Order: sequence, then structure tokens, then C-alpha cells
Amino acid sequence: MNTHAGQFRQAGALTPSAGPMIDPFGRAITYLRVSVTDRCDFRCTYCMAENMTFLPKKDLLTLEELNRLCSAFIARGVRKLRLTGGEPLVRKNILYLVRELGRHVEEGRLDELTLTTNGSQLSRYAAELADCGVRRINVSLDTLDPEKFRTVTRWGDLSKVMEGLDAAQAAGLSVKINAVALKDFNDREIPDLMRWAHGRGMDLTLIETMPMGEIEEDRTDRYLPLSEMRARLAEDFTLTDDAWRTGGPARYVHVAETGGRLGFITPMTHNFCESCNRVRLTCTGTLYMCLGQEDAADLRLPLRASDDDALLHRAIDEAIGRKPKGHDFVIGRQNRPAVARHMSVTGG
Ligand code: SAM
Ligand code: SF4
Repeated sequence: MNTHAGQFRQAGALTPSAGPMIDPFGRAITYLRVSVTDRCDFRCTYCMAENMTFLPKKDLLTLEELNRLCSAFIARGVRKLRLTGGEPLVRKNILYLVRELGRHVEEGRLDELTLTTNGSQLSRYAAELADCGVRRINVSLDTLDPEKFRTVTRWGDLSKVMEGLDAAQAAGLSVKINAVALKDFNDREIPDLMRWAHGRGMDLTLIETMPMGEIEEDRTDRYLPLSEMRARLAEDFTLTDDAWRTGGPARYVHVAETGGRLGFITPMTHNFCESCNRVRLTCTGTLYMCLGQEDAADLRLPLRASDDDALLHRAIDEAIGRKPKGHDFVIGRQNRPAVARHMSVTGG
């Protein structure tokens, strides 16, 4: 046991609960989102500034450490795990981690292993992801217009993402498209995006822009409440509430004309915190108990302090005991973002 462990010993008895993680509001934590890198090969305007300063590589947990951390959460009742970023598929050797975590699915400890990706690397990795036990993925795509795609992602190439989608579907992965609804950018295109996605057998989920991290533009200019988007869509489509849930915050409708499902993630207009079942882990081992709050717990120190997981479980217990009731996102009432960190730190 090294000196870090000593610090933890002084903090109290080493009697970690190994049971399920229940927060102070009675919510069971069963969903872990893991940002495996803060880096990305795109620079989406609502997500990042063009010149981002990324974490020094030395601060990152190794993939072996991430695996150990994730496995500790699975032992504590996490049933769904999502890899995200930054762009998860730009992390070197990421398939090692996917394969390791896939074993938990194979052996019944985890219901679902999935990832959120911008799709740029999918043509290379889709088949192997499927082989590792991934069944469903989310691909973020805000427009089908190559020039607009380049504008919103700054560095992205739509044709590469399209190749990636083909590869994913050919590999048997079920794909959901996520699009951030941006006023005067893609709002008029949403019906076409929906017809296209549903035509390919993919669900589409719309997301409201959230005030996270300094970016060049003013988010108030692009913020579009999805209640307004839904009302507009309802003029041309028959939308019926659908009880479908994927374990996330999206609420779905069935679209009669396309036969597909349309989801809405509305952190700004509808607060879904009361049913929050998730926590977020970053690539440095920081645990955020809420996407919309600054409070966080360092799990890297207890992870590295000893080879057994007792200290880690104790730190997890303390962190879950501080999970807040909800976020305080508001767009437009302040000049600064509600939380300073970028979405690429916690991965959405
Ligand atoms: N790079 C991957 C991708 O784009 O899918 C995974 C990470 S990305 C941060 C996860 C999701 O967050 C994407 O669907 C992206 O559109 C969304 N996102 C990023 N910044 C956002 C913001 N400020 N408000 C709402 N959604 C945002
Ligand atoms: Fe990269 Fe995803 Fe952020 Fe776009 S939304 S910059 S793809 S992390």
C-alpha cells in the first residue's frame, strides 16, 4: 500500500459497500458514460472552440485503468455503459477496451455496451465493434448537406461518415442518429433528415444545445426549443407518443408517415433529472455526478493507490452520496456557459 492509500486510510475506515449505488434521492445508478478521450478529429461549432487545448497525454488513464474502473462500476450495478468523448474512436487502441468490456456483456454482467461517435472512423471499426459485442451505436449527424456539414464540424467530411454508416449497418449494428437542433442552421432540414434516417431503418433523436464550455459563437443565436420543433413537425407528420426508452433521457414519438421513431432530448425545456440514472467518468478518472454541475470526484487517486478496489469503492460511495438533484441549465440569462467544461470532456 503506498502513501495515497495512507491518506485514504486516515479519512476513515475501509469498509466499502459493495452493493448497488443509490443516490440521496433514491435513484439507482445503473448507467455509466465514459469519455475515453477529450480529443476529436472534428471541431463542431456548438461543442468546441477551433483552437482547443487538450489534456496532456500523461494525465490520461491507461486503457487498462479505464477497464478496471468500468469493471468496478459494473460490479456495483451498472448495466449499461456508453463510450464517448471527444471522439472515442480516435483514442489509440480503443478496441482493446471495447473487447475487454464486451466480456461483461457476454457473461451477463452488463446489458449493453454502446458508443456515441461522429462516424468518421466507423468504416474502419464497425465490423470489429460488432464482433466485440456492441449491438447499437449513436452517430451524431446534424445535416446531410456536405458544405453545411463542413461548416458545423469545421473539419469533417460527410462522405466519410456516410461510408461509416454503410459499414455499421452492414456489420449488423443498429444505428441511431443524433442531431443537435440549431436555429437557422438545420431546423428546416429536420424533416428531410428524419425521412432519410427512417428510410434507412435508423431512429433519429434531436438534442437541444446546452450551455457547456466557451465557444466562439453565442449559443442564444442557435438555441431552438424542441417543443417548438415538435409543434412544427406536427403540422406535416402524425406524431404519437411512444413509450420506447433506451435507458437515456430521450422521449420518443412514432411518426406515422415514415414508420420510424423520433426522439427528443430536452434538457432546457423539460427537466428530466428526476429519473436520472447515470454518472459520467472522464478519461482522467474524474467522476461527474451531473452533466450540468461542476461538482466532481477524483477516482484516479484511489484507483492508483492500491491494487485492490476497496479505496475505489469507498470513493465511489462518497461521490454517489453527493449526486445533486438536478442541473441548472439556462441559456441566455448569462453571458457565460452554465458549466465551464466542454461537452467533449464528459461526452454528453
Ligand atoms: N464525438 C462524438 C459525437 O460527436 O458523437 C461523441 C462525443 S459528443 C460530445 C456527444 C454528443 O454531444 C454529440 O451528439 C454532440 O452533438 C452533442 N453535443 C456536443 N456539444 C453539445 C452542446 N453544447 N449541446 C448539446 N449537445 C452537444
Ligand atoms: Fe467532436 Fe463530437 Fe464535439 Fe463534434 S460533438 S467536436 S464530433 S466531440
